[in-house]
Amino acid sequence: MKRRYFIRNASLGGLGIATASPFMDYLNLSKMSNFLPVCIATWNFPNASLMAGKMLEAGALALDAVEQGVMVEEADIRNTTVGRGGAPDREGNVTLDACIMNPQGDAGAVVYLKNNTHAVSVARKVMEETPHVILAGEGADQFAQEQGFEKEDLLTQASEKAYKEWLKTKEYKPIINIENHDTIGMLCIDHKGDIAGACTSSGLSYKMNGRVGDSPIVGAGLFLDNEVGGAVATGMGEAILKSVGSFLIVELMRQGISPQEACETAILRIIKQNPNYKDFQAAFIAINKKGEVGSYCIQKGFSYMEYRAGENKNVASKFYF
Ligand code: ASP
Repeated sequence: MKRRYFIRNASLGGLGIATASPFMDYLNLSKMSNFLPVCIATWNFPNASLMAGKMLEAGALALDAVEQGVMVEEADIRNTTVGRGGAPDREGNVTLDACIMNPQGDAGAVVYLKNNTHAVSVARKVMEETPHVILAGEGADQFAQEQGFEKEDLLTQASEKAYKEWLKTKEYKPIINIENHDTIGMLCIDHKGDIAGACTSSGLSYKMNGRVGDSPIVGAGLFLDNEVGGAVATGMGEAILKSVGSFLIVELMRQGISPQEACETAILRIIKQNPNYKDFQAAFIAINKKGEVGSYCIQKGFSYMEYRAGENKNVASKFYF
């Protein structure tokens, strides 16, 4: 932070811009849209971005900040779409998908994890303690327990009640928007300028047994490159998987395209690929290494969190229709 502050201060001086005091400089610079460190996250999950943002300001590394940040939502049983308390599949099982990436480009993921709230932490263990990227189902559960995660029951009374209500009609409309907002995907850039990301979800409510969405799939639900920036997705996992949208956004940013334009290109590609695009939501947020942010989605209703310089704000995304 200090080094960046002096570099920016020097460059302002070089431009002949008068600055009243170092404190005023800090205040003015912190209002810049690319001020670092920064945390962005999908949907209106203020407690998660606050946790990560405060950690970053205290000097935490991006990887620790994204993990702890999304863990806030995994543990919060008021949301029925991430971690414990997530809506079950059509057989009544809560199954979690998550992935994480560090600035070195390493990745870890779990799919169909049944017995642990903090899927993101199990994913981090996969990344750090195994030679693999993804562990699935029983293997993921077994690995979690071997790593010391205690077995938990993820189905809360409230989710069970809602599930029993759903069983009466078994209506299956996989539309994801604000009314059943879902996955938390988070990207943080720390004081060293390094980026990390995480994405965690219980997936579609009442999904088919065994269904896996985009959230744990590197390149679809999350992708980053420490030379370029990162992107995360939420919404209809099948459409996001087919577009490999987060990878696409990072590659577009590599070519110098802004995060905003890159997100718009990825959403337009999903629209082109899916004639039924009006029936679902898909959204991306992205950040480049300069700290510039972009976001785009198919339909109105998606927003994201941005924590920067002590301010934790919810920003309405631009949308296609
Ligand atoms: N993308 C997630 C999935 O399809 C759900 C969501 O983000 O709303 O599993």
